[in-house]
Amino acid sequence: MTDHQGAAGPYIAYDGLPPLRSTETDLPLLHPYGPITPGRYLTPGGGRITIETTSAHHKVTVDHLGCDAQRTEPKEAAFKSLAFAAEGECLTAGCKHHAAFSEGNVYRMFEVRRGSIELTAFVRALLAIELGAFEPADRLFASTTAKAGEPTR
Ligand SMILES: [Zn+2]
Repeated sequence: MTDHQGAAGPYIAYDGLPPLRSTETDLPLLHPYGPITPGRYLTPGGGRITIETTSAHHKVTVDHLGCDAQRTEPKEAAFKSLAFAAEGECLTAGCKHHAAFSEGNVYRMFEVRRGSIELTAFVRALLAIELGAFEPADRLFASTTAKAGEPTR
């Protein structure tokens, strides 16, 4: 079995896409129209995504290794609204943890409360942002803020 999270091996550069470690090239591809289940995958935008499910949350981590194409201002804003959408559901439900989202870094981490935003809808919105389509993220953001109010920061 290959250790996909092990020590960094040599990186493989792709034209305009985030580089991959040589141990990551055989990760399964996550197709936005396919089933979304916990695991570690390559994304259509060339990133890596890890989906874990705990008792209360889905934890979704996307790794673009600071790839410029995934750090444009509109994409940062869309990733942020998606994080706010998830966080709004947590606030409504009285979750006490801090939102894990960090912007512009190597990793983007999201916590989605189970029973709020459907995992599939959330991950599809995330994958759409990679490819420059922000409508699904905007829709999730709009439906959350309608319930929870505008984010305060
Ligand atoms: Zn929460």
